[in-house]
Amino acid sequence: MIVPQMLFRTLRSADPRCLWKFAWNFGWKGMLSVERFKRRIKRGEYFPPFLYLSILNTCNLRCQGCWVDVESKDAIDLDALNRTILDAKRHGNSFFGILGGEPFMHPQLLDLLAAHPDCYFQIFTNGQLITEKTANRLRELGNSTPLISIEGREMVSDERRGKKDVFARTLRGLENSVKAGLLTGVATSVCRSNIEELLTEDWLRELIRRGVHYAWYHGYRPVGPKPNFDLALSPEQLVRIRRFVVEMRATVPIAIIDAYYDHDGQALCPMSTGISHHIGPKGDIEPCPIIQFAVEDIHDRRGLFETMRSSAFLKDFRELSARHTRGCVVMERPDLIREIVLKHGARDTTTRGTAMAELDAITPRFSQWLPGEEVPEKHWMYRLAKKYWFHDFNAYRNVAFDAEARARQLRDELAQPVLNGATPPVPAPELVGDSQPRCSG
Ligand code: SF4
Repeated sequence: MIVPQMLFRTLRSADPRCLWKFAWNFGWKGMLSVERFKRRIKRGEYFPPFLYLSILNTCNLRCQGCWVDVESKDAIDLDALNRTILDAKRHGNSFFGILGGEPFMHPQLLDLLAAHPDCYFQIFTNGQLITEKTANRLRELGNSTPLISIEGREMVSDERRGKKDVFARTLRGLENSVKAGLLTGVATSVCRSNIEELLTEDWLRELIRRGVHYAWYHGYRPVGPKPNFDLALSPEQLVRIRRFVVEMRATVPIAIIDAYYDHDGQALCPMSTGISHHIGPKGDIEPCPIIQFAVEDIHDRRGLFETMRSSAFLKDFRELSARHTRGCVVMERPDLIREIVLKHGARDTTTRGTAMAELDAITPRFSQWLPGEEVPEKHWMYRLAKKYWFHDFNAYRNVAFDAEARARQLRDELAQPVLNGATPPVPAPELVGDSQPRCSG
């Protein structure tokens, strides 16, 4: 009964224009763009159907674990954004993730949305700048969904996001979004300080009462200039999140997104599969938002498609990370990132210029790859969608990792008593075959 309840709630609360744009630009055309991606990779050609664009790095908050240079004023101008999106559209793309910094601080965001009525945009925002006026303009355009990040209730929100009154201000933006009839989502990067508060059925039911249409739980990644490793999740907590999401999908009438598992519960990395890559706030073409290194950028005369299709740097990243883990290469094998960056002479794309030092400070830990603890999708709708349009696209056909050995490591970890405070680092995944990891414990 979950699907009829969700559908009824959404049809009753969302604006018809927003529903139509979602169904056509994201649903139908999004599916076609993944089908085109599948045909491309059969030819050995990689260009992601899902592009994530950080249109600026300025932000009004100061979150722990944020990798963005939020004090800086870099932004991609409208012409460059339009050129980038037009080129991607020529190759079948219709969906774009808009990140920052805080996207609503970009003076041309609404013009960008208006320039591409045939596309669909998911805007990753803290919600604080979504006024009634802005929300109504988004409804008129109909082609975007605000995904509003909430990292805890009053106390935890202020602590995690480095400002006062964060929760209340974010809720005001959320209310404006819902009132305007926008398809509205809430995202949380689950960490030690909010897992008990937000990874609950009660919280999901509260979101439903607030009119929210979908939720997204990310695992906190301790990266950036202020990583706060104490917030990092234990393997036990990572397993718990996966079990919770699968259970709630079959129990509570709210859609729950994830980008890390296929229909059988096999872990994957969107960057390694090639389904998504990232454009940084200076136009740098990066493997993913938290890998802040690049060789190419969107200003390349060849255009976006050709530049990304022929990028040896991106190719190496996809293949080497997939060869060594089904999880997050940043969390599990930061040594491999250093290797690829040095091999290609890639530049540090941050303004602070400390990306390599930050990488070296990361101690390997478990991420979404939890061999032996796979949880297959329970609900038919997620099984169907993932089976055909969101899986590993055969990226893990040539692996060098030993899943059995990794499963043993995980079992040992899960057998240890849950400690309060920081999660102890674990050795990097063991290898079979020729090469030895540089940082393995
Ligand atoms: S490398 Fe890590 S953060 Fe980047 S896409 Fe893969 S899993 Fe996500």
